Amino acid sequence: MDTTSKLAIIVNNPELSEPLKTIAQKVLNQQRITFDEGVHLYQHADLGYLGVLANYIREQKHGDNTYFNRNFHLEPTNLCVYDCKFCSYSRLIKQKEEGWALTMEEMLDIVKKYDHEPVTEVHIVGGVLPQYDVAFYSALFTAIKKHRPELHVKALTPVEYHYIFKKAKIDYATGMRLMKEAGLESIPGGGAEIFHPEVREQIAKDKCTGEQWLQIHEEWHKLGMRSNATMLYGHIEKFEHRVDHMEQLRQLQDRTGGFQTFIPLKFRNQHNQMSDVPEVSVIEDLRNYAISRIYLDNFDHIKAYWAMISRQTAQLSLNFGVDDIDGTLDDTTKIYSMAGAEEQNPAMSTQELVNLIKQVKRKPIERDTLYHVVTDFTDVVFEDEVKPQYYKLPVIN
Ligand code: SF4
Repeated sequence: MDTTSKLAIIVNNPELSEPLKTIAQKVLNQQRITFDEGVHLYQHADLGYLGVLANYIREQKHGDNTYFNRNFHLEPTNLCVYDCKFCSYSRLIKQKEEGWALTMEEMLDIVKKYDHEPVTEVHIVGGVLPQYDVAFYSALFTAIKKHRPELHVKALTPVEYHYIFKKAKIDYATGMRLMKEAGLESIPGGGAEIFHPEVREQIAKDKCTGEQWLQIHEEWHKLGMRSNATMLYGHIEKFEHRVDHMEQLRQLQDRTGGFQTFIPLKFRNQHNQMSDVPEVSVIEDLRNYAISRIYLDNFDHIKAYWAMISRQTAQLSLNFGVDDIDGTLDDTTKIYSMAGAEEQNPAMSTQELVNLIKQVKRKPIERDTLYHVVTDFTDVVFEDEVKPQYYKLPVIN
């Protein structure tokens, strides 16, 4: 049965409540749902219902295409002047012996290690330290582009940008223009956490506010550039805070169209100051992906980090609105493992990633940062390939 027929069954189900029927009808008519309807979904919709709606939207937008990219991570430092309560990554300056802070030369050496690898992107993100300022990052971006012009530089978040621009006494518009001139090509989605001050004050009180995060992305979009957005969910926030977060993103996207991808990030409770807060279940992860897909009608892509949620949950998520599972990793990032992710040494080859996607009967497409197709792996057979085993996903009627 195709996704439209499944959705039609839901719309005509006499046992379904009127509000859920209305939301299903809106999805079928490609209409936007309201803030209250978003909260209603979190409070009342079961996983089966959400999967049908989210999968319908996913397949309308992308069919079976499932995107990934080949990149590597460059993490300048894990020392940070901030003290976000959920952060398992940062070592405050006083715990310096447990941290690292790379020099420009060390960073460029890491970039050079990939000279003969078919990567299309370097993803630069880490902690915030005074020595990494506007001049430092400008020089770093310029040096990377000079060394390897085709490598896409995706770097830093509004947390770093707010800090370095304030220190340099320049406004966001000027700062983002300088970054672009230096070689920055896109901004990853981090630092968003939960925008609402009721929550942000408690978990990440000193860094940029939600409003400032949005302003920096808006300035970047005004330069004709693209970025991503995240949401850290499953801790002390209420459903209303999640919907408020997505509502603010949706409004900015209406104004600029500059966002590519929304990435829900699951709160993990190991090695941080919030270890008393229980983690949400895999069911809640899948519900959250699905509601994101339904709510953010003007976002093209919903991404799950396989390293964070496990390979199996990533496979499942492809039926709950997700169309991108990030990239091949070769253990260059510590962010996931230090945060207590499922994968402690996250490494996956292209072949493994392609098979992961094929196992659930989706089409693996390698993309570049801006979603241009690099290689369609649908019909590619690897030399030593053992025929992949197919699993039928628990599709919901
Ligand atoms: S989340 Fe980012 S800004 Fe906050 S402490 Fe960790 S590294 Fe620093």
